[in-house]
Formats: sequence, C-alpha cells, structure tokens
Amino acid sequence: MKLFGRLALLLLFSTALTSVRAAPRIAIAGISHETNSFNLTKAVLADFEGDDALSGNRKEWLETNAKTSQNAAGMIEGAEKYGLELYPIHFFNAVPRGPIDGPGFNSMVDRVIQGLKKAPGYDGVLLVLHGAMIADGFPSGDAEIVRRVRQAMGPRFPIAVTHDFHANVDPAIIADANIVITGKECPHLDTKERGFQTASILARLIKGEAKPVQAMVKPPMMLNLIHHDTYRLPLKPIVDASKETEKKPGVLAVSIPGGYQYGDVPAMGPSVIVITDNDPALAKNEAERLSAKLWELRDKLQFDLPEPAKAVEMAMASKVFPVTLLDTGDNVGGGAAGDSTFVLAELVRQKATGWVVALFDPEAVQKALSAGVGNPFAFPVGGKTDRVHGEPIMIRGTVKSLNDGKFIETEVRHGGYRYWDMGLTAVIEAEGSTRDLPNIVVLNMKRTVPLSIHQLVSVGVYPERQKILVAKGTIAPRAAYEPVSKLLIAVDSEGACAINPARFTYKLAPTLYGMEKRKP
Ligand SMILES: [Zn+2]
Repeated sequence: MKLFGRLALLLLFSTALTSVRAAPRIAIAGISHETNSFNLTKAVLADFEGDDALSGNRKEWLETNAKTSQNAAGMIEGAEKYGLELYPIHFFNAVPRGPIDGPGFNSMVDRVIQGLKKAPGYDGVLLVLHGAMIADGFPSGDAEIVRRVRQAMGPRFPIAVTHDFHANVDPAIIADANIVITGKECPHLDTKERGFQTASILARLIKGEAKPVQAMVKPPMMLNLIHHDTYRLPLKPIVDASKETEKKPGVLAVSIPGGYQYGDVPAMGPSVIVITDNDPALAKNEAERLSAKLWELRDKLQFDLPEPAKAVEMAMASKVFPVTLLDTGDNVGGGAAGDSTFVLAELVRQKATGWVVALFDPEAVQKALSAGVGNPFAFPVGGKTDRVHGEPIMIRGTVKSLNDGKFIETEVRHGGYRYWDMGLTAVIEAEGSTRDLPNIVVLNMKRTVPLSIHQLVSVGVYPERQKILVAKGTIAPRAAYEPVSKLLIAVDSEGACAINPARFTYKLAPTLYGMEKRKP
C-alpha cells in the first residue's frame, strides 16, 4: 500500500513534468524603431528604453504588458490560449528619429541573441520589430536583425515577426523569417490582435499543425501617408479585402502595410504579404491579386492640403470648434523633431485665440521651472532641434502649472500604448489669452507623440473648451483627437515628415508612382 502510494506520487510527478515540458518555450523580444532618413539626428543606444526583461521578474513583465494593447499583449494572450510558455528577453523602443548608429544597433541585436541562447532553451521566438528601421550600413535594420538571429539559431528555428503598418518590408526578411505579420490598421488599433494572430500561427507551426509559407509582392507606388487612414476611402476596401482573403481555405494571414515614405531605402513602399499553409502558389497568386488591387487605386491618391497660414485662417473661420490642425511636417511619431513652430508662428501672427500647441523643448521647461508657477514667462520656444522645423518663437505669458508628465491611457489608441511619460511638463498661458479662451503652450521634456488626449488632460488642459488644437502628426493622432474635435484639417507644413514628397531628395528609394514632383 505504502509502495503503491509512492508509485502513484511518482507517476503523478512525472506526468506533471511531462506536461510542463510539452509546452513549447518561446522567447519574446523586440527592437523597434521607425527611422526617418530626413531626420539628421542619429538614434543612439541611450534613446532606446531598454526593457531588460531577462533579469526582471518574468511574471510581473507578462502581467504588466498584458494590460496594454500592444503586440506583446496579443502575444501573451495567444500564448496562453495555444499553450506556449513565453519568456521575455529584451525590449528596445525609441521615439522615431534618424538612423541608428552602428554600436547601438549591434549592442541591441547582440543582447537579444545572447538572450536567445541562454537557458531554458527555446523552441522559437516572437520578434516585435517595426519594419522601417535603418541602422548605419543597413537600409533594412529589421532584415539584418532577423538575418543575425537566423544565423545564430540555425535554419530550423521558428522565427515569427510582427511589424507596424508603416513597415518598408525588405524581401530578405520574408526569406529569413517563418512568419511576418504587419498591422492592418492606421491609426494602429489592431496591434494586440496582430500579436495574437502571430502567436497563434507560430503555435501551429511548432506543433506541426501548419507549415507557413510566405509570398510578398510590392506594387511600384508610394502610398502617401495622407491616405493611410484605413478606416476611410480610398484605403478601406483594401483592408477589407485583406481580411476577406484571410478567410479563404489555406490562407493563414494577409498583411498589406502602407510603407513609410520617410525611409529612403530600396524596400520603400507598400507591400502585400500572404502566408498560406504550405501552398506557395496560392500565396503568390493572392499577393499578386491584392497588389494589383492596390495599384488600381493610384489615381485616387491625390491630395491638396493648405499650408500653415491658410490652415490657421480656415480654423479661425470655422463655425464649429474645436478644430484640430494636424501638423503633418512635424509628425513626431514619424521621426520629426516635435518642436516645429510653423503653425505656432501663424497662430501668433494671425492673433488666434483659444489655441493649444504642445512642443518638445527641455530648455523652455527648465526656464518655466525656475520661474515657478504663477510667475511671468518670456522665452523663445521650439525650433531648436534643427533647421528644418522653423525658428524659435518668443512666447510671453504666465507659468500656469508644472507637472511630472506621467499619465495612463486606458482607451485603445494608436499603437496600443498605456503607460506614458512626457518628462517634466510646463503649461504656459500665453499673451492674447482671454479668461474663457486661453492660448496654451504645453512644453515637454521628452519628445511625445500625440496619441493620447491625456497629454493635454493630464496637465489640466480641457481640449473641448479650446478653439484650435494642434496635433503633430498625420493619421496616428486621429484616434485620440477625433472624439474631441468637430473638424480636423491636415496641414501641408514643412519638416522631416512633410507630406509632400517634392520636399525631399531620395537617393536609395526606387522611383515609384506618387513620388512625382508636386511644387511645395
Ligand atoms: Zn506606424
């Protein structure tokens, strides 16, 4: 009896052990950067907030990241559902700017590879890569990362990659990775869903239930960022078609990233990537069919946007408020400086009232800090990063408040970010303010992409009470600003993300339809 008891215990123990081992161990890592070729400030290692998950508490990392709506959150959910054990390694992410310097790039990739080689021994990896990364010497930094991972881990090691919707997908990454899935939506509200989809296909690959094969076709066009709103015409039918195609038997995933026109690289432009279950011909045919559908749209991809002076005039003349001016040239999320003053200069010159402009300007924040709340402020703001985002503008007023700049976004907004830190933040009430309609400059210590309305709300600015809001972006801020705006006007402003391709000289990108010179 006693012996039987021990045997039973042993059996139970060994069953438990077997079931643990049966769960594939998957590493999850990320190096994410949308690199703007026209931003002359290099990205260096210090710009990347290294999330050293490897040495941290695994459980805590998984719990925290599960609360966001980012790729990792979907991967965590997918792993749970499909019985994968996730092991976070390293996560590097930086606000977009110029190409990453060689030492910074090598250091991040080396650390990910070292992590992959450590215990407990992995059965595959989920890599969160933006898809528009440029590192010194590597026009596709993402393809180079996967090439090195493939080389280090061998030809049979399953590699699944997620990319942002703005990926310039290089053919090399399709060859080296087993699975490449990009965001479908812009504003990016499906990031979690795509992470889930990627984990689910990786699980099927590892369990031998599916054999993903990929094909990619790139139509020879530039899909201008101004048309990247996937919730509207002309792009919406393409996204719908990608979802329909995913329902076809044998098709595992369809991605149609819009590309990123500020990455001057050979792979610049939109792509169609189709993954099928071991059916290369089906993948190729569907990719070609959808690419042709995208190409047919080309004549609808025209635009005519007002320059800052005209846009401010239009906003002031509006019958409904608030009006949000989308400062496309200073698209922070696309790698622009975040301190452009072209729109601010017009607001001041045309004596508009009730406006809000947020600017990256650490020097001005310091000035406000030393002045103190309630005291006068007189200092040139913005236009300090480089010479393509305008001149500093003298702002006189009062320091309204000083804030630590941290907030949480609980709604699903572009990219799915939840935890925010804009650094020390000063709110200046500028001259020309009335009691009901203050003119507000929000000064941030860190470059902050306007993806959450809480960038304003958290520092005591009520966007719905103002007349003119300025959001430094093109499509991404819409998810946050549409709910509080009565009208949005995209502005053809200068800057590292100017919407008009005629403002740039391309060197490495192929000649694509849509790059034709339009006089700025
Ligand atoms: Zn994007």
